Amino acid sequence: MALVVQKYGGSSVADAASVLRVARRIASYRQAGHEVVVVVSAMGDSTDELIDLAAAVSPDPPVRELDMLLTAGERISMALLAMAISDTGHEARSFTGSQAGVITDAEHGKARIIDVTPGRIRGALDDSAVAIVAGFQGVSQTTKDVTTLGRGGSDTTAVALAAALGADVCEIYTDVDGVFTADPRVVPSAHRISLISHEEMLEMAAAGAKVLHLRAVEYARRYNVPLHVRSSFSERMGTLIMEGSPSFPISPQTFHRPRSEDTPVEQPIISGVAHDSSQGKITVTGIPDVPGKAAALFKIVADAGADIDMIVQNVSTEITGRTDISFTLATNDAVPVGRALQAAQVELGFQSLRYTDQIGKLSLIGAGMRSHPGVSAQLFAALSDAGVNIQMISTSEIRISVVTDKEELERAVRAVHSAFGLDSSSGEAVVYGGTGR
Ligand code: ADP
Ligand code: ASP
Ligand code: MG
Repeated sequence: MALVVQKYGGSSVADAASVLRVARRIASYRQAGHEVVVVVSAMGDSTDELIDLAAAVSPDPPVRELDMLLTAGERISMALLAMAISDTGHEARSFTGSQAGVITDAEHGKARIIDVTPGRIRGALDDSAVAIVAGFQGVSQTTKDVTTLGRGGSDTTAVALAAALGADVCEIYTDVDGVFTADPRVVPSAHRISLISHEEMLEMAAAGAKVLHLRAVEYARRYNVPLHVRSSFSERMGTLIMEGSPSFPISPQTFHRPRSEDTPVEQPIISGVAHDSSQGKITVTGIPDVPGKAAALFKIVADAGADIDMIVQNVSTEITGRTDISFTLATNDAVPVGRALQAAQVELGFQSLRYTDQIGKLSLIGAGMRSHPGVSAQLFAALSDAGVNIQMISTSEIRISVVTDKEELERAVRAVHSAFGLDSSSGEAVVYGGTGR
């Protein structure tokens, strides 16, 4: 018997038939004697629909109320799922994030989990009930208001609960059969990665592979929670993200023991290609090239609450002693950052501010890069062969990222995926559902 935390994404509970299908899977785990905690997302694209509705009512809704609205989506699916499970003859109890003991800071829209006190969840399990928890939400320790963890945050709820409960495995059920070498919606020839380290998965998630929420991977690494990303539409083995050897149920009846294909003898050099089209680029032109200007500029950006990603500073022109600085950030942060910089134009002494959201970021990830020179040269050659222009470059030990024109991004991803020999002909990159929104 194991304690399994399962998380079902929006596409897995998109309609009544899907809720029933998920309920049957959960019942089969209970039937086999496992304890099951389930984290659910809002049905289908209903979070996006709620955001659109808020925008139709108010151009700039108060963040507290927006969180109150969005958490309703997960409450609908948790109650429906509990009803469907009851009809399978197993008891199920649903809980909001707050009831489940998910305690966060007070940052509405991107709250961080600071504690998990799952007393009621443990109680439900002790009573032989399935505990169903609304994903992506918590309650602020200070204000006692309801908060959300940011888009895609249900993954993080699941991992945090798995860590707090000491679960044997956290299964992330989605609409593809695991983590692939690229987004299957963009690269149909991508292949499933059977085992990936936390380190590489962190880089993939940070680079835009939205199959897992970045903070969920960080949490899993810190608390050593084994993750299994898989499809709720098939019975296939998915992707394991863990260190060490897996030993947990992969189907209600079967405990997984490592097989040779799950533990490759030699690490591939490249594990995958990720892309992100949700970033924009701000260029500050004609800023004096003297010590302290970059510090002042990025303090203003940080105070506006934005995480920045890539930064490029040009060589200053000798005649003017001025330079241009470009940086990328989430498109959602562009308006507040733009406003804050504009307000500081005199203090910073720059000439103009430009913004575009017509950019895309492609990242090549692989732990093997550390010991293999020439990976960047091969990447640049692949992009040049495909006629794709590079606007910005950044690297880490195990990642190379480039910014391209948004229109060229998907073509660039396919070209790089092929150039690094990642294409598969097995046709396993099936997208079972979801709209990719
Ligand atoms: P859920 O609603 O289940 O949380 P998401 O839409 O958040 O699902 O994440 C699953 C989607 O992530 C897939 O449908 C796929 O389009 C996308 N994706 C991006 N990169 C990858 C990747 N490397 N492997 C698998 N899926 C990926
Ligand atoms: N429903 C939320 C969203 O769409 C949280 C989640 O699905 O993880 O972002
Ligand atoms: Mg998701």
